[in-house]
Amino acid sequence: MDKRYFESLGVELPRLGFGCMRLPTKDNEIDYEEAEKMIDYAMSMGLNYFDTAYNYHNEDSERFLGKVLSKYPRESYYLTTKLPIWLVESEEDAERLFNEQLEKLQTDYLDFYFLHAMGAERKKIMDKFNLYDFLLKKKEEGKVKHIGFSFHDSKEVLEELISGRKWDVVQLQINYWDWEEIDAKSLYDVLVKHNIPCFVMEPVRGGFLSSFAPQVERHMKEYSQKSISSWAIRWVSSLENVAVVLSGMSNMEQLKDNISTLTNFQPLNKEELEIIDRVVEELRNINPIPCTACRYCMDCTFGVDIPRVFKIYNDYKKTENKEITLRSYFRFLKEENRGDKCKKCNACISKCPQHIDIPRELEKIHKELMAL
Ligand code: SF4
Ligand code: SF4
Repeated sequence: MDKRYFESLGVELPRLGFGCMRLPTKDNEIDYEEAEKMIDYAMSMGLNYFDTAYNYHNEDSERFLGKVLSKYPRESYYLTTKLPIWLVESEEDAERLFNEQLEKLQTDYLDFYFLHAMGAERKKIMDKFNLYDFLLKKKEEGKVKHIGFSFHDSKEVLEELISGRKWDVVQLQINYWDWEEIDAKSLYDVLVKHNIPCFVMEPVRGGFLSSFAPQVERHMKEYSQKSISSWAIRWVSSLENVAVVLSGMSNMEQLKDNISTLTNFQPLNKEELEIIDRVVEELRNINPIPCTACRYCMDCTFGVDIPRVFKIYNDYKKTENKEITLRSYFRFLKEENRGDKCKKCNACISKCPQHIDIPRELEKIHKELMAL
């Protein structure tokens, strides 16, 4: 596994980080045996950066990681977890949660400690309970080596969060789809401007960039036999200010593929970058439902999440990935928000600037997804 030394952090980090939010599971719980094999393999290959959080795997990810990593010398790996800021209602809460996290992780210090999923609303909590000072205090006490936050909001909010504070690192959602789609580029540029190393989450966008419809995928497959995910991992690793690329891996195959992608790493060449541009353009054109997510049709009196159903369906047509689609529609989307809850009242049709026959499409989509 390739490593990179980051001057401002003073540590050498592996290019790939192990995200522990999608570990293998059995009966909806972490499959300790399988997941431990993956951690052991990662360690044997020099992948020694582990990222977890309080809430991952129903609050069991930290405990699992603590148990498995305790057999290794503490200085042989890097450990990151995050303060569940939404649970903080006082300064004492932050202290209590932090201590609980150390205990679960069986360690007396963290290499990196983040405020979790920051944005405008959570910044208010941070300010109210002096959580930035809390992080600094933990650093002074030697219980945290580096501080940062993971982030999902606009570049203005990111600038506000950075302003007047000294963060060691920031974790952003970056991949070649979101670069322009949600303007991840402008967030990345903010970090470059402030000289803050970027840790990347969702490089394959939860699997969205790991398979495409055959007519799109062929551009990559004709060029090389490497996995579709490897293009996304290499794309993000080619960015100069990216320190670590996190991948939430669920099986040994993904782990081995990612490790091989980032061993003797080759940045993407001009031809490969052009192929990615072509893929992005073609994906954009696969939009069987021309929904722009403007939400003018919402709220539906009967609870249907119209733009979300359309997005899941459009993503399915781009990727033809049944597993992700079924997960998105039948697991992440609540039953009461699905297409079959449409009562065909027609109230939404006239509100849609794209003139989509919403009830008809919802019915068709639900049937198609049920049959997957
Ligand atoms: S037609 Fe269906 S989706 Fe539209 S408002 Fe009525 S119930 Fe909701
Ligand atoms: S109004 Fe039309 S385009 Fe806008 S979110 Fe609803 S379905 Fe999509």
